[in-house]
Amino acid sequence: MNSRLKPLSKSTDHKPRLIDSFGRQVDYIRLSVTDRCDFRCVYCMTEDMTFLPRKQILSLEELQQVARAFTELGVKKIRLTGGEPMVRSDVMSLIESLGKLPGLQELLLTTNGAQLDNYAPALKAAGVNRINISIDSLDADRFKRISRVGELDSVLAGIDAAIAEGFDRIKLNSVIMRGYNEDEVLALADYAVDRGIDIAFIEEMPLGEASDHAREETTCSNAWVRSVIEEKYELLDSAEKTAGPSRYSQAVGHRSRIGFISPITHNFCEDCNRVRVTVEGRLLLCLGNEHSVDLKAVLRDSNSTHEDLKQIIIAAMDLKPERHYFYDKKHVQPVRLMNTTGG
Ligand code: SAM
Ligand code: SF4
Repeated sequence: MNSRLKPLSKSTDHKPRLIDSFGRQVDYIRLSVTDRCDFRCVYCMTEDMTFLPRKQILSLEELQQVARAFTELGVKKIRLTGGEPMVRSDVMSLIESLGKLPGLQELLLTTNGAQLDNYAPALKAAGVNRINISIDSLDADRFKRISRVGELDSVLAGIDAAIAEGFDRIKLNSVIMRGYNEDEVLALADYAVDRGIDIAFIEEMPLGEASDHAREETTCSNAWVRSVIEEKYELLDSAEKTAGPSRYSQAVGHRSRIGFISPITHNFCEDCNRVRVTVEGRLLLCLGNEHSVDLKAVLRDSNSTHEDLKQIIIAAMDLKPERHYFYDKKHVQPVRLMNTTGG
C-alpha cells in the first residue's frame, strides 16, 4: 500500500470522506453488475457483442464489498446498472444484501424493464426505492428496430408491474434520435403523464462507436425536445438540483416531472457528485473520461484488506477530472460502450 496515504479511521461512521480536488463531494455511485443484456440497443451496443469472461467480472460478493466500502466512506445512494442488471444470475441476492447496508439511504435500479413483470415485488421487498425504466418507442416494430431484439410488450408489462407495486417516483428514460424516434417525443411524454410517472429525455452520448448510425447525425438536442413538449405541456422548472447533467420541470397540472439529461448541450460537471464502478471493478471517475483505478486488483490481492480498499477509493478522488469534453476534438473521446461503462 502507498505509505503516503493518510491513515484511515477504523470506524465505520459513514461520514463523508470522498472529496475530489475540485471540492466536490461524492456520495453517489453507479454500480454495474453485468455488461450483458437481453437487448442490443443501437446507441448502446453493437449487434455482435463479445461479453467479458466470468473470471474477469466481480463476483456478487466482491460487488457487495465494493458497495459496503463506499457506504462506509459516506456514499448514500447506489444505482445498480449494467448492461441489464436483471440478467445477472442471482442478482436478487446481491440486491437483498445491499438493501441492508448501514448508511445507504437510496438503492436505485436502472433497467430495460423486460423482467420487471416478474421481479417488481421482490425488488420492492429487497429495499429498492426507485426504478428507472428505459423505453424509446411505443411502436412495437420501431421498438424492435432500436433495441434490435426487445419486445415492447414485455417492457410495457414491466412498467405496469412497477406502478402496481407502488415504487416511489418511477422514471422512464428515452434516448431521442433523429431518424429513429424523434416523432415520438410527445407520445412518450403523454404515456408518462397519463400514468403519473416521470420521464427523462437523454441526449445520445458518443460512448464508443455506434455500428448502425453516425451519432453526430442522430443526436437531438434537448432544447429541441423541450420545444416539442411545450407545444402541449406547460413546464415549470424545478429548483431541485440533481447534481448531474439532468434538469427537471413539473408538467403543470399533472403529477409527472419531465427531465432533460443533456450531457452534450449542457455541462453541469461542476455539480457532479458521482462515480461509477464497472463490472470489471474499474472505478471510473467520469463518464466522459478514462481516469480510473483498478479495484479488482485490490479485492483479489490476498495481502490487501478492506481498509486498503477504502484507502484506494479515497485516493482515487484526486483523479476525478473537472469535466467531460464530448465531441471536442482536442480531447480523447471514450472508446468504451455504455454497457461496459454502466449507464
Ligand atoms: N439496461 C438498463 C437500461 O437500459 O436501462 C441499464 C443500463 S443502460 C446502459 C442505462 C441507460 O443508458 C439507459 O437509459 C440507456 O438508454 C442509456 N444509454 C445507453 N447508451 C447510451 C448512449 N450512447 N447515450 C445516451 N444514453 C445511453
Ligand atoms: Fe441493454 Fe440497456 Fe444497453 Fe439497451 S441500453 S442494450 S437495454 S444495457
